[in-house]
Amino acid sequence: MHSDHQKFMQMAIDLSRDGMRSGVGGPFGCVIVKDGKVVGKGSNAVSSSNDPTAHAEVVAIRDACNNLGHFQLDGCILYTSCEPCPMCLGAIYWARPAKVYYANTKIDAARIDFDDQFIYQELELPLEQRKIPFEQLMNAEAWEVFEEWKSKSDKTLY
Ligand SMILES: [Zn+2]
Repeated sequence: MHSDHQKFMQMAIDLSRDGMRSGVGGPFGCVIVKDGKVVGKGSNAVSSSNDPTAHAEVVAIRDACNNLGHFQLDGCILYTSCEPCPMCLGAIYWARPAKVYYANTKIDAARIDFDDQFIYQELELPLEQRKIPFEQLMNAEAWEVFEEWKSKSDKTLY
C-alpha cells in the first residue's frame, strides 16, 4: 500500500529516469502537487536545451506557476528525486511551496559527480575571494531605479 507521497515521489523518480534515458538531461525529476493533483512537472533539461538553469525543480516550478497563473506555489508540495542544489533551493524559497520531499541526497548526487558542495563553500567566502570575481559598478545609477520602485504606486508585491 503506497501513500500519495510515495506515488508522487515515484512520478518524480520516473521523470528522472525517462529524462536521462531519452537524453534530455541528467537523472533528476520533479513533480509539484496541489490539493492532490499534479500541477507541474519536469526533468533536468540542461544539456538538451542549452540552459544551465533547467534543473528539474526549476523546470517544474515554471510549469506549475504557468499552469496556476501565479508566481507563488501556495499550498503546493514539491517532490524532487534529489535534494535540491543551491540554485533550486533559492528558487523553491522564492516560489514558497508548503513542503518539499526529496529522495536522493546531495551526497548521493556527489557520488555520481553532480557535486554542488563547492557552491555552498563559495557562499561562505567574501565576494573578492570567490572563483568567479564579483566587482561593484555604478551603484548610484542603479539605486535611482530602486528609489523609483520604492515610490511606485501600482507595483505588484511578491
Ligand atoms: Zn538545481
